[in-house]
Amino acid sequence: MQLSERIERITESPTLAVMVEAERYKARGLDVVDFGPGEPDFPTPDHIKRAAIRALEQNFTKYTPAGGIAPLRQAVCDWHSAQLGTAYQPSECVISVGGKHAIFNTVNVLVNSGDEVVIPVPCWVSFPDIVKYAGGKPVFVPTHEHDGFCLYARAVEAAFTPKTRMVIVNSPSNPTGAVLPAEEFARIVELCRRRGVWLLTDECYSHFLYGGQRPFSAASLPGVKETVIVCGSLSKTFAMTGWRLGFALAPEPIAKAMVKLQSQSTSNPTSIAQHAGLEAVRGPMDSVVNMLAEYERRRERVLAGLRQIAGLTCNAPAGAFYAFPNVAACSTHDRECLAASNGRLDTAVVARRLLEAAHVAVVPGEGFGAPGYLRLSYATSMERIEEGLRRLAEFFSPD
Ligand code: PLP
Repeated sequence: MQLSERIERITESPTLAVMVEAERYKARGLDVVDFGPGEPDFPTPDHIKRAAIRALEQNFTKYTPAGGIAPLRQAVCDWHSAQLGTAYQPSECVISVGGKHAIFNTVNVLVNSGDEVVIPVPCWVSFPDIVKYAGGKPVFVPTHEHDGFCLYARAVEAAFTPKTRMVIVNSPSNPTGAVLPAEEFARIVELCRRRGVWLLTDECYSHFLYGGQRPFSAASLPGVKETVIVCGSLSKTFAMTGWRLGFALAPEPIAKAMVKLQSQSTSNPTSIAQHAGLEAVRGPMDSVVNMLAEYERRRERVLAGLRQIAGLTCNAPAGAFYAFPNVAACSTHDRECLAASNGRLDTAVVARRLLEAAHVAVVPGEGFGAPGYLRLSYATSMERIEEGLRRLAEFFSPD
């Protein structure tokens, strides 16, 4: 069957593919320890759920403006201002069907065919495919485990060509958990400003920072509103992945273009979800604090457990809720992994065999542009973490 050239440029999200595979095992009654999902295991806080119930009872079940209801646009601007020190107006805010949608729309209203978009790797799986779908060309800038996967302005600058249109930064990062220091962020923003390049900052994990660090937005730097576009999400911050709510904060002409795109594609995000979102950003932030405390506890346990495995190295994530161990130099008794390795483990095979043989679901580093690594989400209970670590230790043992 002949599909469009556009759709053939992209592949299905590998993280969603892992989820589907793990679900197949679970459906067969197998006890899978699932380190796959990039989503909070906590329920959506009650006060947010109640707002959705109220919205239903009050019949907020109709179309809304394509870019979201006015009170939510205002409330998102207020929340972002209070939490992250920015100053946006509702006309510069678009409510979208999740953060991914905001990123997709931003790239599609700004990137022309042949434009280059600089993406640090390891990177979230969707960035390159979204760029390719828009006709752009991802240009990857490597970051390194030995210095905490930090992105440097000088490395970004070295990747610039006359075709560079945008840089995408995701801090805290999925998959590495790296947090870009504010000074380096400022250098990158200044570089983009000077060179007339857009900086898309994906703040999906903005509130999951360890060791008492404060959330930071590049858009809070002075004089950068014509350079920076914020893409944010309620998915992780408020444990609302299924509700599909995100937002973009951008100069008005870009926000307008994004609304135009939404008006001809998805239309508005679900009306009921928007009312729940309104409560999320206006209401108390205690649930976020509590979730973070629990992630911090799990992070310690996961790191300690992983670091006991011979040959494995793992940076301490400074944010988000993923461990990203390098397992290339580990040993295993698994025959298929051994057959596929030339002394170093192939992580695509390792991930497959971990699911088949140990019933542990992880995402291989390949999808993030980082072979040799596995991504483990610790958005799962401590009890499952213990069991998963036990199985991993058993899998990665020479005999
Ligand atoms: N950005 C990053 C780095 C993510 O990891 C995700 C989700 O996994 C998203 C954006 C999008 O999340 P959502 O579309 O659920 O808001």
